[in-house]
Amino acid sequence: MLTRISILLALTLALSGALTLEYGIIMDAGSSGTRIYVYQWFKENRPTLFVYQEISPLNATVSNLKTTPGVSSFYNNPTGLNASLAPLISFAQKNIPPTSWNSTILFFKATAGMRLLPQYQQDSILNDIRTILNGSGFLFRPEWARVITGDEEGIYGWVAVNYLESTLANLTAGSYGALGESIYNRPELTTLDLGGASTQVAFIVPNDYTGPDTTKVTFGKSVDFTLYSKSYLGLGVDQVYLSVQNLLISRANFSTNVNNPCNPSNYSEIAKINGTAYNFTGTADYAGCREVVSTFLKNFTGGPIGANKPAIPQTLNFVGFSAFYYTFSFYNISGLNNNPTLGHLYNLTGEICPLSFSQVVAAAAATGSTANFANKYCFYGVFSSELLISYGFDNNTAQINAQQSIGGTEVSYAPGAMVYEANEYYNSNLMPTITSSA
Ligand code: AMP
Repeated sequence: MLTRISILLALTLALSGALTLEYGIIMDAGSSGTRIYVYQWFKENRPTLFVYQEISPLNATVSNLKTTPGVSSFYNNPTGLNASLAPLISFAQKNIPPTSWNSTILFFKATAGMRLLPQYQQDSILNDIRTILNGSGFLFRPEWARVITGDEEGIYGWVAVNYLESTLANLTAGSYGALGESIYNRPELTTLDLGGASTQVAFIVPNDYTGPDTTKVTFGKSVDFTLYSKSYLGLGVDQVYLSVQNLLISRANFSTNVNNPCNPSNYSEIAKINGTAYNFTGTADYAGCREVVSTFLKNFTGGPIGANKPAIPQTLNFVGFSAFYYTFSFYNISGLNNNPTLGHLYNLTGEICPLSFSQVVAAAAATGSTANFANKYCFYGVFSSELLISYGFDNNTAQINAQQSIGGTEVSYAPGAMVYEANEYYNSNLMPTITSSA
């Protein structure tokens, strides 16, 4: 209630001209491309959580802009890098009044695509990025362009979802329980992010939990949490698809003609892997696909997956985004009933994997999913379900929701990074601070 009144007050003041807008930018450099997000909030209400929102984009149907490929492919290529970032910078310049450019904080955060590169290549690309961003007109410092760790990415994703769902605002306003209360009575959401090159899981654990991959996060003066946040480098959809292809190649004794049980029938693709062109033929073999994906995960070099981690709190709600969203919306999990579970996804892969390419294209059209990934939807479903099983999800009770946007803002780690960085920069004590990391 207090929040609603405050929002109304803020909007009224804004309309009467008493408030001024302030802006912030996150550039999210992923493995498959770079996105820019422009955010706005009221300067006078800076410390409050709820005035922070995504700016209305120029084109109402586009909430951000993405260019491909990812910055990791621009080692020793500043010209290519500049061509890739220039449209993003001009997108922000069009969305932000020129008088505000020099006070608009700009952060560039690269994730798993860059993490996979050797350090000297990361450093070189980051230096080229810094030169470009220095000339953007926005408020930028060299240390604001970084490769973030996987755990940080998971924390930002958790902050983003819980911020956008107002869970954090309600917590700081004291609407929900006191510290020390059983976490299972509280409304925080567990977040699951599935990117192209890595995957993240983050959830709250009891404050006395002391295992690895935990971080203390403080909101306001009195609410602090211990968050478990874990990222697996190499377990993004694109990387695992490639790893499975490699496993199939070695099983075929390095023949250049390879069957892929995870591709639909009546489908073939040529993939250049380590300089050699391989011809993959889809066999739409559901059991074969489960076997090869689970074998890869069991032997995952960055594993064992789900080890050394606190038990997943099955009774909390889960929000999956990025490729979890693409997968769950293709399988129409959320549309099935009000209690979508891992078991539903698992069973539906048994119906999708045996289909032909044109049948998968038709299934994609039926759920509004793009046909561009029709060759991969069986793989997406099998891999996502095997990953969640490795995490310790219960087949029948874990409630899983996939979301692309919350309140009009696209779900990714970017809104969480913006909340965090704005707080750091303006030194407000009402926004979240990440105070210690283990
Ligand atoms: P993102 O987190 O949006 O970068 O997506 C992660 C990965 O999902 C990308 O690297 C793509 O392989 C895949 N992907 C991207 N967009 C879609 C889409 N619309 N449908 C299915 N898969 C997608």
